Amino acid sequence: MKYAVLGDVHANLEALTAVLEKARELGVDSYLCIGDIVGYNANPQECLEMVRLLNPEVVTKGNHDEQASSETELVGFNPQAARAIEWTREQLREDQRLWLAALPYRQTIGARLTLVHATLDMPHMWGYVFDKYSAEVCLGYQFTQVCFFGHTHVPLAFEKYGTVNGGRYDEIRLQANHKYLINVGSVGQPRDGDPRAAFVTYSPDDRLVQLHRVEYDIATAQQKILAAGLPERLAQRLGVGR
Ligand code: ZN
Repeated sequence: MKYAVLGDVHANLEALTAVLEKARELGVDSYLCIGDIVGYNANPQECLEMVRLLNPEVVTKGNHDEQASSETELVGFNPQAARAIEWTREQLREDQRLWLAALPYRQTIGARLTLVHATLDMPHMWGYVFDKYSAEVCLGYQFTQVCFFGHTHVPLAFEKYGTVNGGRYDEIRLQANHKYLINVGSVGQPRDGDPRAAFVTYSPDDRLVQLHRVEYDIATAQQKILAAGLPERLAQRLGVGR
């Protein structure tokens, strides 16, 4: 069994297409998604349909998914993100809005795996896990060996065995009695200085988690953002991965 874990797709069709091609090459059998399928970029409808067609075992809800599928006032978003959410609201069909709105904040699969967009302690408050201190709080609410999350768009992994340690990773061999909180990075808007799309594969039988980076057609994604009248900054940041 090999899962692909997709996070923060953010309506970037070019990135999602390249990632799915890579996932097929790698022999992925099942998909998981930690949310923020929409927001920021120009293809929310198409990305949502593409994710739905993968028939993922679990999809959890991101903050952009929540805001794009509701009509509440936008609080806590920067002006560019808010503009993109308003634009996304106009794009989505009713059935897509309802599908997004019904996603769970967190979900556990068996005894081994949990998925959440932001944090496990208060998933609906959209806190950020950037260091071992915030990771430790989150790990206190994690009752499976592995939890995949996103929200920061920075692929970092934290490991708890007595104390909590963390940092960048390419590959993790899971060890018995250790707990892992793993950020899968962002498919559609990476922010770690590497503009390539990011996703993770997870093979439970081999106890192996691997981070993958995939080149994609950034120029086309940028052109679509500008053509849609979305903020120019959202196009620029794709080029630098910030
Ligand atoms: Zn996001």
